[in-house]
Amino acid sequence: MADLRELYQEVILDHHRRPRNCRRPDDANRHADGFNPLCGDKVSVFVRLEDGVVRDIAFQGSGCAISTASASMMTETLKGKSEAEAARIFERFQDLVTGKAADSDPSELGKLAVFAGVRDYPMRVKCATLAWHTLRAALSGSRETVATE
Ligand code: ZN
Repeated sequence: MADLRELYQEVILDHHRRPRNCRRPDDANRHADGFNPLCGDKVSVFVRLEDGVVRDIAFQGSGCAISTASASMMTETLKGKSEAEAARIFERFQDLVTGKAADSDPSELGKLAVFAGVRDYPMRVKCATLAWHTLRAALSGSRETVATE
């Protein structure tokens, strides 16, 4: 398991150092802001939603390695997915990081499975899910800033 943990660390640090889709698209038609006061993480999520499909998704923000890596990997995972698929993946991801998905197959989440280790650190769960909660607010058209507390 030690090797696996190191690999997880490596993937998270890589996305923290070089976040993917870290930009503000001009043609986004959905947007929401999120804030995690416990850690100080801030994130803005931008989506171009067309016919119920996430055509483009990007984020900007500042935060810890976990929150940035989670936002980065979320954008990679959800691009091209339908709103329904995005909602399903969010549920699975939340189950994973809160430890509810202990019996399910983490390979369904692809690279996002690296966040499984977060379940041992309740404070970090909020870091890992901030971008996802913010995305959900963006898709539902909410204008209020999402706060994890
Ligand atoms: Zn954080």
